[in-house]
Amino acid sequence: MKKEFLSIKKLIEKNGYKFTIQKRIILEELFNADIHLTAKEIYSKVKNNNIGLATVYRTMNLFTTIGIIKEIHVDGISYYELKMYSKKPLHIHFKCYKCNSIIDVDNSSVEIKYLKLNREIGENEKLQIHDANIMLIGLCDKCSEDKKL
Ligand SMILES: [Zn+2]
Ligand SMILES: [Zn+2]
Repeated sequence: MKKEFLSIKKLIEKNGYKFTIQKRIILEELFNADIHLTAKEIYSKVKNNNIGLATVYRTMNLFTTIGIIKEIHVDGISYYELKMYSKKPLHIHFKCYKCNSIIDVDNSSVEIKYLKLNREIGENEKLQIHDANIMLIGLCDKCSEDKKL
């Protein structure tokens, strides 16, 4: 088993749950994805392994509660991405109101400023910041191109 999976297994067991084969398969999909997935999208990838939609929902709730993944709400839909072992630990999201795509602002200079901003707010306001969610909303490059035509 991957080193990452072993520590996630420990975390799940520490919280009183079993690291089942279903959880491992779902976890693998989350590690393989580099976009945000909904529970239904995850379900469509794992259903061949006899995993039901209810199990996917339950697993996503558990993974979110114990901090393995992060849930992003957009228009009543929950999207999930890895929080632990993420290649992009802290990033700003952008949502296009026209095509509904969610884009990761994947830029190291922005990330450093974002981290600094979090730290500064934490220190100045004496807050313990555990996570951050910034969602910028507008038109993506593709949709604003369409507009010009
Ligand atoms: Zn768009
Ligand atoms: Zn993201």
